[in-house]
Amino acid sequence: MTRAFDVVVVGGGIAGASLAYFLAERGVTDVLLLERESQPGSHATGRSAAVLAELDPISTLQELKVGSAGFLRRPPPGFAETPLLEPSGIMILLREPFWSALRQLAPLIEQAGTRLALLSPADAAARVPVLLAERFDGAVLLPEDGHIDVHALLWGYLRQARRRGVEQRLGVEVRGVRVEHGRATAVVTADGEIAARWVVNAAGAWAGAVAALAGAAPIPLVPHRRTIVVFDVRLDARAWPMVASDADQLYFAPESGGLKLSPMDEEPMQACDPQADDVAVARALERLARLAPALVPHALRRRWAGLRTFAPDRVPVVGEDPRVRGFFWLAGQGGCGIETSPLMGQIAADLLVDGRTERFDARRLAPERFATA
Ligand SMILES: Cc1cc2nc3c(=O)[nH]c(=O)nc-3n(C[C@H](O)[C@H](O)[C@H](O)COP(=O)(O)OP(=O)(O)OC[C@H]3O[C@@H](n4cnc5c(N)ncnc54)[C@H](O)[C@@H]3O)c2cc1C
Repeated sequence: MTRAFDVVVVGGGIAGASLAYFLAERGVTDVLLLERESQPGSHATGRSAAVLAELDPISTLQELKVGSAGFLRRPPPGFAETPLLEPSGIMILLREPFWSALRQLAPLIEQAGTRLALLSPADAAARVPVLLAERFDGAVLLPEDGHIDVHALLWGYLRQARRRGVEQRLGVEVRGVRVEHGRATAVVTADGEIAARWVVNAAGAWAGAVAALAGAAPIPLVPHRRTIVVFDVRLDARAWPMVASDADQLYFAPESGGLKLSPMDEEPMQACDPQADDVAVARALERLARLAPALVPHALRRRWAGLRTFAPDRVPVVGEDPRVRGFFWLAGQGGCGIETSPLMGQIAADLLVDGRTERFDARRLAPERFATA
């Protein structure tokens, strides 16, 4: 057995990295972060659409996003060399009855901290001139939201944590979790066991597998594939906001001189290294032809896919396992693990250090909500 740590974090994506950072901020540096791949952020974190959009039908997610946005807009001095957030705007196209519902809710949403503007179809089409205005009844613009520099955010967390003494080991897979008298006491790797007071499950799509190693509560987390493609456009799209339409089941945004587009596919699957879904892309391009025909590409420049991992209620799972003491969940971030990482990392750090948090009603995230009698 090598030396013991206060906290061993399993997973070097945005979840594990943000926790390592906020633990170090709280003075807890006897922390080891283990990542199986040779690079941190190789899975969901490195494959996201990189968006902050503070509008979510699930109130818990909405609050986590709003509570995280301040950090993304104004990170602590020295955290990163470049801005974390480019407020390029998010424009969400709506049809009835959702447009009327959103108009009614708009004052409440603003009161809760999200700046927004309601646009007529003509106003929306003036901002993104390729849109066919008859395809939607109105749009909501989030002018202060936009593109997150995920690389800068991830490496900001990791570098600052390391500077304060957190140890990070890449290429190390956790293959077992030792549990004694109902308490997790160590992780098992190819190089032996590493003792820990806390074992944190930040394993993304593999969180269910890591939980099974510990005999923890069987929370049904399901990875879902999502595809993104990048293509060239003949127009200058650099100043456009991201455009999202649930009715057309797609979103697109400027990306390195062209556009990135997602068919918003949600294919449930086992944890894996997923490939882009070409059929979903082809169908999305048919839908794009109805919403913005001038954008339909002849060729794709790049395509990739990643896994968004959801609990049944699509709310993250954060807290100590109800069965195995010392085993802590930080999983199920679904489609918003990047934009919520500042507040989620702080909540998790508070719970590990103090057993409670003043920042959020942590019961809404607790793994107990899935405990069966
Ligand atoms: C296409 C797509 C678009 C998205 N768009 C957005 C967006 O716009 N905004 C947003 O906020 N979020 C978005 N998301 C969601 C976001 O990417 C995820 O919620 C977030 O990255 C999850 O982070 P994570 O650290 O939990 O998981 P991951 O990044 O997957 O990290 C988990 C890590 O654990 C490691 N691991 C697993 N098992 C072990 C083990 N046994 N031992 C050691 N290491 C292990 C893995 O190698 C992996 O690196 C998107 C996701 C996808 C796929």
